[in-house]
Amino acid sequence: MRRTLATVIGIVGLLGAARDASAFCRSTTCRSSGTKPCAVDENGCPTEGAKLFWSSSCISYAMNELGTQDLDPSETRAVIKKAFQAWSDVPCGAPGKDSALNVATMTFQEREPVSCKKSEYRKDGRNLNVILFQDDDWKYRGIGGTIAKTSVTYNDETGEIYDADIEVNAANNTVTITEDPRKIEYDLRSILTHEVGHFIGIAHSPQSSAVMFESYSPPSTAQRKLTADDVAAVCAIYPPNRSAVCNVEPRGGFSATCNPNDSSPGPCAVATAGVGAAGAVNEPAGTSAALVMVGLGLLAAARVSCRTKRSRRPS
Ligand SMILES: [Zn+2]
Repeated sequence: MRRTLATVIGIVGLLGAARDASAFCRSTTCRSSGTKPCAVDENGCPTEGAKLFWSSSCISYAMNELGTQDLDPSETRAVIKKAFQAWSDVPCGAPGKDSALNVATMTFQEREPVSCKKSEYRKDGRNLNVILFQDDDWKYRGIGGTIAKTSVTYNDETGEIYDADIEVNAANNTVTITEDPRKIEYDLRSILTHEVGHFIGIAHSPQSSAVMFESYSPPSTAQRKLTADDVAAVCAIYPPNRSAVCNVEPRGGFSATCNPNDSSPGPCAVATAGVGAAGAVNEPAGTSAALVMVGLGLLAAARVSCRTKRSRRPS
């Protein structure tokens, strides 16, 4: 069964009408509102706003130490690592002509599990890119229909990503990490591989075979492996010849704990001194009526943006 997922801003019309043309989309700083969607091209890719990217060639992340119910934390951690590895050092050359140097300039460093269990960004403090599981409650729009959500905080003018956090909805979906086809339900590795694509600035692709396609069909494991479309996306954002330095330290330095003073959980737009405003990006979840009605699984995320610090405006 094909389960329809959330759409990138402005391409609701693509639901159920997947195209086969190779046409990855990049996330941008444009944030749709109900009355003013972001302009898109023929592939449904946003054409407004700055394209999102990490400036560093290596990004660190950590799993919340609790992992998720019913799954062994060490095995869960290993699956998370595999999802990030899928996007690491991706060969960008033509088949047979790849060299060790001709790879996308993006790799990841796994940190030890952390106590923080919250998507957040501190503009004046230490940070962390966390992978966490919501086992009891999923508070975002598109509730039962959302498998996971990636929150990205970026500079609203340049598109530079400052922070990214992934939350998995294990409250409404049974995620599995087994290799036994008879026991797979929602394949965690497939789901996380898709979310890591968002983590690095890729939006949904209209190509139905791509990892970054907006749908997941349980118990498929097809989205564990990048397709040519996904490879093209990561190679476009992080080309081999990019002059980027590897710095795994999160913005402001690393912290394994959440901000104790933050009374507003979840990502929020932040003002960034000297470089303009930054916003938090997710994807819209449950913005499609069809999607909400059937309560299907999503690989996407609710786009949350905040006009002012401490206020949240799910869109
Ligand atoms: Zn998605």
